[in-house]
Amino acid sequence: MANNLINGTLDACRAAVALFKDRSRSKTARREFWALEPEECTGMLNDIGMSPAEFDEAMHPPYASEDLLTLAMLSVGIDPDDFDTLEFARSHFMSRTCITCPRRRKCHDRMQAFDFEGHYRDFCPNSENFLKLLRKRCDA
Ligand code: SF4
Repeated sequence: MANNLINGTLDACRAAVALFKDRSRSKTARREFWALEPEECTGMLNDIGMSPAEFDEAMHPPYASEDLLTLAMLSVGIDPDDFDTLEFARSHFMSRTCITCPRRRKCHDRMQAFDFEGHYRDFCPNSENFLKLLRKRCDA
């Protein structure tokens, strides 16, 4: 009983520390982004189809500073650096979908558990795009 209580308290502390670190990383990423040259910021936001206000808003959800798109691609077997992948991701606004995704916590947890590839079809807003990219790779 006492052990359960202690373990529960430790888990809550660890979760609070992780949340604090995550918030801190997101704040740093946001600050570093806006420290770039204005044209660079505008170019990058145009590339992913976001306004400055949308980008700021997107820095609040969990794991906002983490590149979950690249990790997701690697997890399902897509080369994130392949030219065709980059073109497809750009034209289908995959980065925007990831950055504004309401499932980032679940996505992150699945990545941590190394079972994203087995479950992403159930919750990932980019799942259709991943499937199209995988089909393209098979057709090539
Ligand atoms: S669930 Fe899909 S869209 Fe959402 S952050 Fe993860 S990879 Fe991106």
